[in-house]
Amino acid sequence: MKTTLITGCAGFIGSHLTDFLLKKKHKIIGIDNLLTGDERNLHHLKDNKDFKFIKHDVCKNLEIDYDIDYILHFASTASPTDYLKYPIRTLQIGSIGTEQILKLALKKNATVLVASTSEVYGDPLEHPQKETYFGNVNPIGPRGVYDEAKRYLEAITMAYHSKMNLDCKIVRIFNTYGPRMRVGDGRAIPNFINQIINNNDITIYGDGSQTRSFCYIDDTIKGIYKVLKSNYNLPINIGNPDEYSINELVNILKKLIPNSCNTIYFDLPENDPKVRKPNISLAKKIIKWEPNYNLIDGLNSTINYFLKLDK
Ligand code: UDP
Repeated sequence: MKTTLITGCAGFIGSHLTDFLLKKKHKIIGIDNLLTGDERNLHHLKDNKDFKFIKHDVCKNLEIDYDIDYILHFASTASPTDYLKYPIRTLQIGSIGTEQILKLALKKNATVLVASTSEVYGDPLEHPQKETYFGNVNPIGPRGVYDEAKRYLEAITMAYHSKMNLDCKIVRIFNTYGPRMRVGDGRAIPNFINQIINNNDITIYGDGSQTRSFCYIDDTIKGIYKVLKSNYNLPINIGNPDEYSINELVNILKKLIPNSCNTIYFDLPENDPKVRKPNISLAKKIIKWEPNYNLIDGLNSTINYFLKLDK
């Protein structure tokens, strides 16, 4: 039986990874300081003997007595709303927090997988984005705190790999959605679904022509697992290449949820990427992965989650 430590285990992706690996018979040690994570994502595991939760800030030293085979580093303030609210924490989690985790992995002789992001490409000038693209990030713009934290995370992970022989994996996760996103998460899909369900105004930033490519959480989790099991140490894009404008997304959601909402337009936030779409040739080649869910099925499952949620 493998023992796996997951940071950010109470978050959206972290809690799904926890469930997935428990089903694969891993013992899980879950770490979260609950800054943006939600304990309700773990309630169903409270009597599970293979799951141990430790409330802990990943930037502080962590002593673990157990042997650990894998570490998955998913602690992060990943929503633009969160990283604008916690800019310094965001930088610290990506830098100090990541180094704590890499040191722990070295000490335990564990394989470490770190969560990076399509934000390392910034407002991209290459489209779709391949792993070889260096990106177009404004380090001092509002999104710089997240983008640079994740670029640093990649850099220090590679440095530990080349200098210390640490077995590392890096996933660049593109927009992911599904059950367990927070109602107040601030990202497009949870915002729009909850606005339409509650018959509130739909808030589009800019003219809605900017694009994103949305990957359903089950597909993302399978991709991450395949990267973990691979022998590949350089970054791999994990995302769905089906690209939609924000206006198209809103129109699809309005068809899926009967409503009479108005749409209101706000200024596009500074440095908000105008396009985003992963090139997943590398994932197809190295880990034989590509997403299966289409957007409608994924959105329906996410809508059902929010409809049933006890708010
Ligand atoms: N967006 C929007 N209205 C919202 C939330 C987001 O128009 O209520 C836009 C946002 O400006 C961006 C896109 O939707 O262009 C995706 O935003 P999200 O926060 O989901 O993720 P991002 O890809 O920007 O990190």
